[in-house]
Amino acid sequence: MNAEIISVGSELLLGQIVNTNATFISQKLAIIGVNVFYQTTVGDNSKRLTEALRQARSRSDLVILTGGLGPTKDDLTKESVADLIGKPLVYHQESLHYIENYFKKRNKPMSENNRKQALVIEDSQVLANHFGMAPGMIASFEDCQFILLPGPPKEMKPMFLNELLPYLINQIGGIESITSRVLRFFGIGESQLETDLLDLIESQTNPTIAPLANEGEVTLRLTVKHSNIEEQNRLLDETEALIMDRVGEYMYGYDDTSLMEQLFLQLNEKRCTIATAESLTGGKFSGLLTSFSGASSVFRGGVVSYATDVKESVLGVSKDVIDRHGVISSECAIEMAASAKEKLNSDIAISFTGVAGPGTQENKEPGTVFIGIAGLSAEPMYCQLNLAGGREAVRDRAIKYGCFYLLNQ
Ligand code: ATP
Ligand code: MG
Repeated sequence: MNAEIISVGSELLLGQIVNTNATFISQKLAIIGVNVFYQTTVGDNSKRLTEALRQARSRSDLVILTGGLGPTKDDLTKESVADLIGKPLVYHQESLHYIENYFKKRNKPMSENNRKQALVIEDSQVLANHFGMAPGMIASFEDCQFILLPGPPKEMKPMFLNELLPYLINQIGGIESITSRVLRFFGIGESQLETDLLDLIESQTNPTIAPLANEGEVTLRLTVKHSNIEEQNRLLDETEALIMDRVGEYMYGYDDTSLMEQLFLQLNEKRCTIATAESLTGGKFSGLLTSFSGASSVFRGGVVSYATDVKESVLGVSKDVIDRHGVISSECAIEMAASAKEKLNSDIAISFTGVAGPGTQENKEPGTVFIGIAGLSAEPMYCQLNLAGGREAVRDRAIKYGCFYLLNQ
């Protein structure tokens, strides 16, 4: 079943209110496996609304409208739908009684406008509104169903959930549930990942594969639709294996697990302890690592050696290295890491030194970063990065690279 949503209201087009109704409806339809292929917003104008209705009818099985069911002149939704499908509006007695009672109870006069709210499209199925006056309705025309819902979210949502959803689930013959699995990548750009997987992304329909880039990381969301959970997992595993064959070296975790969390889990599992020597990152690596409960079993401690003389006096980086290579150097990074490992008595240690920017330092450009790693091989190692972005981006990316290197050793 293919659905589309038409949101009616000039205030939506003017940007005065946010279209939360369409988002809500799309989310709920996705859960029950109904595809939404279009969302249209149209003002309170019968000509343009009719155009939108005609187009929707030609391409969708289900057209869900919100808004424009009220008592005022600019509320045109049911009139336009009735016109299009050639049906008159007739009074719905139950709704009329409900509205009359409402005014009687409050001792308020009832205007003709209010009566208008009880008009429904002839032969339509009426959806009760327990939080307002205007009833919703389902009006069928040939092989298309128009569903009219009120605009105010506090009326629309309960009507959608309590009145409409059971009807739709019944129509589609049960729920095909949808599950997602997110694969997380680092060290590969979105466009490269997409290029490497283009044929898969284009040809796969169950699961679908959707790439997303965020803060130097790329994720692939695999979304599968099936009524059987074991079958869902089998389909996801199959597609994941195809992806791993091509870009597995860049994948580091699943769902919302961050690089740091993944590192923490791995260190914990290997019973491996870590120490840090941070200049560029000012303690941020250590701060992030200690945000996980149980960090004390892997994290020994760290030295924030920001000033050059602290690198010498506390960490014991040699004067010779500083004089000959500077503090922004692989030699300094290596000595920082080796010293942290020794002084803090850990299995491994990581160090960060570099230029966060915006200015240059030791004639090195912002984004120049050296990461030192001690304890993973006989000799300490380092890697050099040239990172793009502002100060915080450089520091954050450096931390992510640090985690990624440690994970892949
Ligand atoms: P009413 O009886 O209140 O006139 P209605 O069904 O005619 O209801 P509209 O007049 O179109 O609906 O909208 C009424 C109010 O509902 C809007 O002012 C707005 O606050 C809210 N609303 C309408 N459409 C949306 C939408 N798509 N997303 C979020 N809120 C909406
Ligand atoms: Mg209105």
